[in-house]
This record gives sequence, C-alpha cells and structure tokens, in this order.
Amino acid sequence: MPRSRPSPQMGSSRDAASPPTPTGSDDHPSPVTTHRDIPSVARLFAADTTRQPREVVADAIVFGGGVTGLWILDDLTRAGLRVVLFEADALGRGQTVGSQGIIHGGAKYALDGVLSRAAVAIREMPVLWRTCLEGRDHPDLQPVARRAEGCFLWHTGSIRSRLGWLGAHLGLRVAPAGVPDDALPGILRDFAGAVAWMPEPVVDPRSLLDVLRSRHHTRILSIVPGSISNVCVRSNGVRFGVSAGTASGTAVQLHVRAGSVVLAAGTGNARLRQRFGLSKPLMQRRPLRMVALRGPLPEFCGHCVDGATTRVTITSQRVDEATVVWQIGGRLAERGATMNPGDLLPLTVQELGAVLPRLDLQHVEATTYVAVRAERATPGRRRPSRPAVLAEGPVITVWPTKLAFAPLAAAEVRRRVALRAREAAATGECDPLDDLPRPNVASFPWDAGNQWTSLGRYTRDGAAFRSRRRAG
Ligand SMILES: Cc1cc2nc3c(=O)[nH]c(=O)nc-3n(C[C@H](O)[C@H](O)[C@H](O)COP(=O)(O)OP(=O)(O)OC[C@H]3O[C@@H](n4cnc5c(N)ncnc54)[C@H](O)[C@@H]3O)c2cc1C
Repeated sequence: MPRSRPSPQMGSSRDAASPPTPTGSDDHPSPVTTHRDIPSVARLFAADTTRQPREVVADAIVFGGGVTGLWILDDLTRAGLRVVLFEADALGRGQTVGSQGIIHGGAKYALDGVLSRAAVAIREMPVLWRTCLEGRDHPDLQPVARRAEGCFLWHTGSIRSRLGWLGAHLGLRVAPAGVPDDALPGILRDFAGAVAWMPEPVVDPRSLLDVLRSRHHTRILSIVPGSISNVCVRSNGVRFGVSAGTASGTAVQLHVRAGSVVLAAGTGNARLRQRFGLSKPLMQRRPLRMVALRGPLPEFCGHCVDGATTRVTITSQRVDEATVVWQIGGRLAERGATMNPGDLLPLTVQELGAVLPRLDLQHVEATTYVAVRAERATPGRRRPSRPAVLAEGPVITVWPTKLAFAPLAAAEVRRRVALRAREAAATGECDPLDDLPRPNVASFPWDAGNQWTSLGRYTRDGAAFRSRRRAG
C-alpha cells in the first residue's frame, strides 16, 4: 500500500465531489444499543446550520472504538491506508471495558479432553499478544498495564473435572504447568486438588484502549449517536452524512466518502447494518451478569474448573494500596444473567466458599453489572469458535468473539479493505478535523455509580458459612 497518501486529518483542500446521494431518511437513536445515555447525548448537540459541512475522504471508515475497532484502525493505518474511526459514546463501552482481559490460550476450551475447534483457533493468541506486549511486534503494547502474567487453574475434584483437567494438556501452545506448594497464592494453600498455572497474560482493558487510542488520537472522532443520514452504498464505495460534536456543544455535518465501511461496534452492529442497507442482523447477544467485589482482596487471576466448564473465572484490578477489585465471570455470570442481584450475591458467596474456602469476605463489598456479548449468530446460539469478519460489498462487519481474537480479526479486515482500496479508492482529500472533540475511554462498569453491598451479612467470621455446609 502506498505510504505517501495524506492521512485524513492532515488534508486541507476541499474536494469538489458532490455530496452524498440521499437514499435513506434521518437516523434515530439506536434502540438496540446498550448505552443507556445515548439518547440524552444525542439531544445535547443541536445542529449548527451556520457551519460548513466537512468532507471526510478515506479508504475505510471504522465504526466503534472498542478493542476491535482500535486494533483495526492501527493495523490499517500501518498498512498505509487512510482511516477514520467514529465512536458514538466512550471507547470500549459495552464489552471491552467490562471484560476480564484474559488472553486465552485454549485450555478453557479443551476441558472435556478434546482439542475443540475453539481451542485450536485461539491457541496462538497468547504468543501473538506477548510479542506485542514485549514490543517485538506492532502494535507496540509495552505500556499496557497487566493484571497478571498468567492464570491459575484448579478444579473442584469430581471425576468429570479430572477428565477435563487431562484435556487441558492437549496440544496447546500454553499448556498448564504444575505449581509447587510454596508458590501457591495464600487463598489456594491447603487446597486438596492440583493447581496449575497457565501463561495466559491478563491485560487491563482500559489501559489497552488508552494505549491504542493515544497512537491514533487524530484519526478518532466522536459522532452524535443516531445521526447517520443519506446513506448510499455502491460497489465502488460508500457515501453518507453523519454529525460530529463540537467543543461548543453544537454539531457539524460530515460528508463522508469511503472505499469501505467497517462495522466494529459490538451490539451496535445490528443497527448499523440496517443503516448501511443490510437487512439481516446476523448477530446474537449472550448476556452475562458479572459480579464485582472490592475490598482488601489479594491480586489473583484464575479459573476454577468443574467438568468441562469454568465454575468461576476471577480477575483482579488494583485500585489503591488497600483496595483490589475482583471481577467474577464463568458459569456463575451465565447463571446470573437470569437472576436479580439480590439472589446472585448470596450465590456468589456460596460459590466462593466452595471453590476458595480460605477467602476472607468479611470486609468485602459487592456489586453486579450486565454485559452483553455480541457475536455472529450461530445455530443453537452457541459461542462461535472464531472471530467473524463478513464482507458484503463495501460493508465489512466484525465480531471478534473474544478480545484475544482482535489481532486476527484486524488482519482479516486489512486483507478485505486493501483488496477494495486497490479497486475503488475514494479520491480527494479530507477537510481538517483537528478542532473536533475526541472520545474518552469508558470507565469500568463497576465505577458507574453502582450500589455496593457488604458481603459481611452472608459470612460468619469472614468465611462463607452458607456455602461451607453445601460445598461438596
Ligand atoms: C463480561 C465479559 C468478559 C469478557 N472477558 C473476556 C476475556 O477475558 N478475554 C477475551 O478474550 N474476551 C472476553 N470477553 C469478550 C470481549 O470483551 C469481546 O469479544 C470484545 O471486547 C469485543 O470488542 P469490540 O470492540 O468488538 O466491542 P465493544 O467492546 O462492545 O466496543 C464497541 C464500541 O462501539 C461503540 N459503538 C456502539 N454503537 C456505535 C455506533 N452506532 N457508532 C459508533 N460507535 C458505536 C461502543 O461505544 C464501543 O466503543 C468478555 C466479554 C464480556 C461481556
């Protein structure tokens, strides 16, 4: 790809091409988005008719600045393509900031003793990410904060669990290794079963988004939610209008021409596909209700395995010297999706009492949050084994399935966009966009004014007394 083309934010002269040909009506705030505040954000921006529309010309426009969109932006830009990313809320809102940040290597998907398709697909990811985290490949992710260098894996001891345990050794690049007793974390000491350690790095997703964003600050714009208009999709590219917020709180209209449009907006993809003329959503949503704990907890990342499933997956994030936040996912969060928080918290205490009996919960508080996994639809709503990249003319839809798959998804998008850019380049230059506001990285979902409940009420002397009686 030619590297000499002007990047979108640097262009200065106005292209004389005609504005987008209207084929659609004005868009409305998306009813499918998970962002509660989007309609109110939309109302903040009154259209300023005195401002001249700006021309945005690019090889690719990326919608959505979660890990997928930002990784794609980085990858395409490094390939010499002109790219602009549009974000309708805060970067990573939805899945990325609520995720646990584990760069899985497949052990979790080989627990039934079989090297599943999912395990084969994901087994290279920890190695690939590590090259970036150590600065040996692009994007250079050395500044990204890591929650841990690996995860513990322990099982609750049933016969099925042991079979699954054996399965975890099958053909994986990062197979579990035994942990000597004196290297066990305090909460796993005296644990009756075997404990292993897997070198799957765990990243802080906000830090990851921040590092990727900082490399491409000028190519990322805040758009007004629901403001896409005048969409015209042709085999040689896409034209549309969209409003961008301005520092003064008004909106400026952008006239966009691009060889490709990449939809990397998580749950927002269903609505965006409609706006770009694709009638089938092809998306499934799989909700989780995650539990977050905060207090004097140890830093700890690990999976407790039961049979072929993970009973709980725990990751931790240090807040300050005295406080650590734990995120708890796995089967507990899947069950939690259909429970109310009032029932999920005692169940959480019971589960933790069973799988980590040494854990002291007396001075710990808990809250829950719902996060919806957006994926390509599959028969039976099963989790896809790979990332999905669907190219339909100039519109490319991406669901990575896992954060760990972002580099794979981005490489596939680059292949598709580069092919199109050779055939149908959008000509002309961008107007300057430097004065337009940029989105922030979203805050963690447990920092959104949540109500926290003390877990002391469910424990006796810090131990989960309800669970002790039932733990098997
Ligand atoms: C609770 C939970 C835990 C997880 N843990 C892990 C894990 O440990 N390891 C792992 O590999 N995977 C994990 N995953 C999966 C992983 O988080 C996702 O696969 C990945 O983050 C998806 O990233 P994304 O960028 O595609 O989507 P998102 O992170 O959802 O980002 C979408 C972006 O698009 C923006 N947007 C939405 N609509 C529009 C629009 N109309 N226009 C412009 N922008 C828009 C949003 O504001 C957001 O910035 C987890 C998922 C969940 C829910």
